[in-house]
Amino acid sequence: MANPLYDRLFGAYAGKQTPFLRLADGRTVTHAQFLEQAAQIAHVTAKLGLKPGDRVAAQIEKSPEALALYAACAQAGLIFLPLNTAYTADELSYFIENSGAALIVCDGRSRETLQPIASDLGARIETLNADGSGSLTDSAATMPTTFATVDRTGDDLAAFLYTSGTTGRSKGAMLTQDNLLSNAETLAQEWRFTADDVLLHALPIFHTHGLFVATNIVLITGGSMIFLPKFDLDQIIALLPRATSMMGVPTFYTRLLGDARFTRDLAQHMRLFVSGSAPLLAETHVAFEERTGHRILERYGMTETNMNTSNPYDGDRRAGTVGLPLPGVELKVTNPETGEILPRGEIGQIEVRGPNVFKGYWQMPEKTAAELRADGFFITGDLGLVDADGYVTIVGRNKDLIISGGYNIYPKEIELLLDEQPGVLESAVIGVPHPDFGETVLGILVPRPGQTPDTQAIMQTVGAALARFKHPRKLIVLDELPRNTMGKVQKNILRDQYKDMFQ
Ligand code: ATP
Ligand code: MG
Repeated sequence: MANPLYDRLFGAYAGKQTPFLRLADGRTVTHAQFLEQAAQIAHVTAKLGLKPGDRVAAQIEKSPEALALYAACAQAGLIFLPLNTAYTADELSYFIENSGAALIVCDGRSRETLQPIASDLGARIETLNADGSGSLTDSAATMPTTFATVDRTGDDLAAFLYTSGTTGRSKGAMLTQDNLLSNAETLAQEWRFTADDVLLHALPIFHTHGLFVATNIVLITGGSMIFLPKFDLDQIIALLPRATSMMGVPTFYTRLLGDARFTRDLAQHMRLFVSGSAPLLAETHVAFEERTGHRILERYGMTETNMNTSNPYDGDRRAGTVGLPLPGVELKVTNPETGEILPRGEIGQIEVRGPNVFKGYWQMPEKTAAELRADGFFITGDLGLVDADGYVTIVGRNKDLIISGGYNIYPKEIELLLDEQPGVLESAVIGVPHPDFGETVLGILVPRPGQTPDTQAIMQTVGAALARFKHPRKLIVLDELPRNTMGKVQKNILRDQYKDMFQ
């Protein structure tokens, strides 16, 4: 009997005194220590009456103990359900009720607020604070340091991960042990991770990037990570010399580039920088290479599928593309209306199939049926194309596509141009209702600090560069773009805000 996820990622290191987590305060947590604590937490869950298949909802700060809760869930056959730490009590009640969790683990400060929700659900509640203290670790401290691993198969659910909620309400993606393991294995191989790697980990662990991409790769290869509570520029610059690799969202890289201490020397010894979760501007890719000599490796994935494509480790890492489909992942670009495969180079909806693709959305059978085809292909909601060499480019989300006077307009094309204009830091292009055209193009600009973009001059430049139907009808300057807690631009909010502009 076995439990593939636990055995491969955790159990393999039982008793090993090898470093697993390197903390900012200089402490190291070994694999053995980490697993002992996980076993103790697994005992707590059993004592609380949790049974295999039950769900554990956790809204807790990033800490070694928080990660041990993930391991404990794997060992006890529980479904781990990490929740964004930025969610308010109101938002949390949706997730917790929706998930039907049997145990809620929260920060001590939220206990009182969550208690009524827990009582309604008949769920238990335990606390775990940022410093590792709390009722969960108090109870765990007195428990045995080994736990009889619960049998599971690869097809059993390991986690519910809620999507970022960029396009609407977050959805709970049901992920199996095999979904997680197959992707960890593939990525570790593709990106050449070994037990010698030290990954600089500054991502949150409630999201697929930090929890599954980063952590599972380190776990499956037996390496260690410098485990930081969040992205802190000073800390990153101080600790980079001890790392071999780093994973980040694009803003990590733009922030590093914005700091003069981030030099070629500082990054010299690094083996790999990976970017994902949002588009990395080609400009950032180029500036990063100029500064450090490293070409950032960009990959593409999502909560529902883990990773689907990656630029090659050895081959050509192409700026502005998300690389090639990973081994075992089939990717096709289809016509959104008919579902037919489009010729290479044409833009359409991206669909993926493989061992990484989730089982469906928790308690959303209609949404699952609409997005997960019977033949296993998942309609990602992203639009893109595959070029002659097989490289995939994402042009945006289906929901952000603008249809004006019958023409399809891809906001990214216009945004790239706007971003290059003098005084412009970034931009967002959206479609808003228009009486004649159905929709029309609205451009939103964020100025560079201390600068004022000349919107008239920009209109002229853009007008000369783009076909008439793509011209923004108006340019608006805003201090900043609305972003969700993952830093992604929420165009639905902008669309809502400006929906009456031309009506
Ligand atoms: P929701 O599904 O709730 O609207 P979300 O799609 O932002 O939120 P995630 O699963 O966190 O939730 O994000 C996955 C999405 O992030 C992808 O579908 C894609 O749009 C975007 N993405 C991820 N990596 C990249 C990348 N390298 N380049 C461009 N977009 C990316
Ligand atoms: Mg999504």
